[in-house]
Amino acid sequence: MNAEKIVIVGGGVAGVSAALLLGKVGKEVTLIEWQATLVSGPPFCHLHAGGNLYREIDDDQCLTLLRQSIDFARLYPFAIDRRPTVIAVPTEDPGKPEDLLRRLELLRGAYARMVEEDPARKVLGEPEEYFRLFGREEIEELAKAEAVERPRNAREWMIPLARHLDVDRVRYPLILVQEYGINLFRVAAGAGLALEAMPNVRILRETRVTGAAGCAEGFRVRCEGAFDGEIQADYLINAAGFRTGEIDEMLGLRERRMVEFKAAYTSRWKEREALWPEVIFHGERGTPRGMGQFTPYPGGYVQLHGMTPEITLYSDGLAASEGVSSQPRLPEHFMEKIEKGWSPKERDERTRRAIEHLARFLPDFAWAGVGGPPLFGAQQIPGEDPTLRVAEVAFPLARYARCEIVKVSSVSDMAREILRDLEGRESESERDEAELWRIPQLEAVAEEDLAARARNIAASRGYPAAMGDRCVGEE
Ligand SMILES: Cc1cc2nc3c(=O)[nH]c(=O)nc-3n(C[C@H](O)[C@H](O)[C@H](O)COP(=O)(O)OP(=O)(O)OC[C@H]3O[C@@H](n4cnc5c(N)ncnc54)[C@H](O)[C@@H]3O)c2cc1C
Repeated sequence: MNAEKIVIVGGGVAGVSAALLLGKVGKEVTLIEWQATLVSGPPFCHLHAGGNLYREIDDDQCLTLLRQSIDFARLYPFAIDRRPTVIAVPTEDPGKPEDLLRRLELLRGAYARMVEEDPARKVLGEPEEYFRLFGREEIEELAKAEAVERPRNAREWMIPLARHLDVDRVRYPLILVQEYGINLFRVAAGAGLALEAMPNVRILRETRVTGAAGCAEGFRVRCEGAFDGEIQADYLINAAGFRTGEIDEMLGLRERRMVEFKAAYTSRWKEREALWPEVIFHGERGTPRGMGQFTPYPGGYVQLHGMTPEITLYSDGLAASEGVSSQPRLPEHFMEKIEKGWSPKERDERTRRAIEHLARFLPDFAWAGVGGPPLFGAQQIPGEDPTLRVAEVAFPLARYARCEIVKVSSVSDMAREILRDLEGRESESERDEAELWRIPQLEAVAEEDLAARARNIAASRGYPAAMGDRCVGEE
């Protein structure tokens, strides 16, 4: 079957990535998004190119995250902040840095083989430099160096952290790994501009899908909002994020899944030097010493995660589907945040706690203040394992794809699988894999337009416009 009329419910990173690929191969696509702008669901800031933030997941998930992250960086190169991540194991943590080394070696070897097979995959720098270790002596030496405006190598990236770190609070070595940042506002801007340039893609914004049912021709999809009416689909893609279960329920499908509400916080540290690496302080998830994540943006803004119930997580933030329902129900106070926003009091309290969480290791950071609204949302996790980090897509009915990504890097495998399902596997050999992900409309987006739109999107959502800017070292 070679269906042409494809309807995608949800314009998050999953929906727009599917629309880009299917639009590129000439399908007639209608992308339906309830919000005014695309990619407005839960946030993302980290390219998990090896899964080194997660000590609890297995090697297979880490290797898949590495491969998928490389694809993601090739698809959205304009959204990748090429700055490394430093991983520190606190002295208070039972783990040791050496415990992480076996996996890092494994990842470095896998990356080297991928680059050997296809040099275009070298998006994380030289394979032998995938990670580098820093002992205490070197950190103390770098603490005396001047920060470099545009860092060119691992040592230069390490200087700002070395200058502010409480060296007694962490174990050595520190690990610098080539896991980069992703700017979600730039993904939203670039994908939006490219999709608007595709004549065969129609975007219905501020339009909600309120019903879907199978019919002889495929599916009938009912819409309300800016577009009011019914659309016939030969092929339906459910990319509704944490509301995936609602579309399943419209089609009479039952599936076990979870949704989790989490929040990161926007702080501003005026004294911060121009460019920092991202910094992870490991810790046991869900305890008061849960992982701390310091994600730098331009303009002195820093996004913060603290994997404790008082900061990023909530004691009632994980909900599972129950009984005959496919859609897990989050407590009302989360839905209120998602639909109406935060009270200034809770925003300030949680941001303050996040600052204190990171200031345990970076004492000067205690001077930072609230920089903007939290970056937050609910995300879907298929099945019943809350530690799952890799998932792509399922096809529970003919001509129906249900996207279920957990990390954004899974979108390329997800979209490729959908194309295979649509066209049949026999056509696979006809498609050149490298060509598949070259999207002319995406490549044609002018940096000036992209930068302006990314800033506008950030500002339209109440964030500092500077968070839509790039944050990169020497290219
Ligand atoms: C705090 C936090 C931090 C995170 N950090 C990272 C990170 O650093 N790296 C990473 O890889 N991942 C991260 N994630 C996960 C990441 O945010 C999600 O995996 C990703 O955004 C999911 O994208 P999606 O397109 O599947 O869903 P969504 O972005 O939720 O998109 C679904 C869209 O569907 C629309 N929709 C829903 N129902 C309807 C309907 N009936 N009609 C019309 N439209 C509808 C919604 O409005 C929404 O825009 C983080 C998640 C959270 C919560």
